Amino acid sequence: MTLAKHQILVVGGGTAGISVAARLLRRGYSDVAVIEPSDTHYYQPLWTLVGGGQAKASTTARPEASVMPKGATWIKNAAATVDPDNNTVTCADGADYEYDVLVVCPGIQLDWNRTEGLSDALGKDGVSSNYRFDLAPRTWEFIRNVRSGTAVFAMPSGPIKCAGAPQKIAYLASDYWRSQGVLKDIDVHLVVPTPRLFGIPAIADNLDAVAADYGITVHTNAEVTAIDAAAHKVGVTACGDSGSDFMLPYDVLHAVPRQSAPDWIKSSPLSTADAGGYVEIDKHTMQHVRYPNVFSLGDVGSSPNSKTGAAIRKQAPAVVDNIDSMLKGRPLTAAYNGYGSCPIVTSSEAMLLAEFDYDLNLTPSFPLLDPTKPHRGYWYLKKYGLPFMYWNLMLKGLA
Ligand SMILES: Cc1cc2nc3c(=O)[nH]c(=O)nc-3n(C[C@H](O)[C@H](O)[C@H](O)COP(=O)(O)OP(=O)(O)OC[C@H]3O[C@@H](n4cnc5c(N)ncnc54)[C@H](O)[C@@H]3O)c2cc1C
Repeated sequence: MTLAKHQILVVGGGTAGISVAARLLRRGYSDVAVIEPSDTHYYQPLWTLVGGGQAKASTTARPEASVMPKGATWIKNAAATVDPDNNTVTCADGADYEYDVLVVCPGIQLDWNRTEGLSDALGKDGVSSNYRFDLAPRTWEFIRNVRSGTAVFAMPSGPIKCAGAPQKIAYLASDYWRSQGVLKDIDVHLVVPTPRLFGIPAIADNLDAVAADYGITVHTNAEVTAIDAAAHKVGVTACGDSGSDFMLPYDVLHAVPRQSAPDWIKSSPLSTADAGGYVEIDKHTMQHVRYPNVFSLGDVGSSPNSKTGAAIRKQAPAVVDNIDSMLKGRPLTAAYNGYGSCPIVTSSEAMLLAEFDYDLNLTPSFPLLDPTKPHRGYWYLKKYGLPFMYWNLMLKGLA
């Protein structure tokens, strides 16, 4: 059942979808439609501070209608399948939408069931996750109430959105426990699947120092793969060639789900052949490698940048420039360089702002401050500056 055709159809009205739609309208395109099922738009980066007791959950959510750009058509529905050979997207209710250009950005899928016992344990008995709006305040409740025992902070293997978030909450919690004089009574463990806490050595060195200062035991090349809520224990599996599996008890557990492309994308002609199944795009032009009138950005794209809102801020202008060139029959000249940024809060008053490109070259926005070290000013950027920029500039296509 074909309901309508739009010149540019955007799937997903999250960070990427709204940024691109706003920019397209500013560029003079008037027939832009956004398929988005949710009533609420979230600013997810602040969920870390919600879990750390430094922001209110309500400040991270706004009605989707309030961020939908004026002039865009909002199709309040979920995309279910895409047929790029016939330029059609079919929604969950069976309605078909045709397009000249498709922009695919429905975000990443949280696979809560791929960690044994996690789904059932969530939200109870000390187990929480900042990766859900409703659970981030619960993280803070559990952190606030513990006075002694063991705390485990876990990062899963595979690509995830904001790879720094699993460790940021460990630092915020430790900082709080220290301020309460109880850190010495809490055995804090941080379990990460990577060889180090960060991919850039100078930053990893400084994060090692932050963790050591709090007395956190860091387990690298390791992953929490099972949660036994009844016994208050997690099973940790070695990820590298060496190391062995072990168990850890917990009184507080902050867990992050494994993540992958949404199932309907994985089974679509747009996906990569590998297990990730992300939308297969050229990492510079953001154009699909097989369907020239399809573009993708944000967490669902196959480009190997860190999956962050910060990356989208640089991807969106390139996508819009290249759509404009394609529709005008010109070569695509805009290139995204892989910029990503990871604001790592290391305490209630300091933050390290790691900014880098595809080659892990540091690309600091504030070159006067050493980008490998935490600074107090950056904390204010995280709490006040970046949310202001997000709601007032980025979602309006102005930054
Ligand atoms: C705890 C946490 C901390 C983070 N910290 C930071 C940080 O400090 N800095 C940073 O830059 N980034 C951070 N991020 C990451 C950042 O929020 C994401 O990278 C960004 O929101 C991705 O944008 P997106 O548009 O790809 O996906 P999203 O913003 O997740 O939006 C996807 C949209 O698509 C919609 N959708 C889903 N399925 C469908 C469908 N079938 N059809 C149509 N629409 C659909 C959803 O409802 C949603 O509105 C953090 C994320 C989390 C969870």
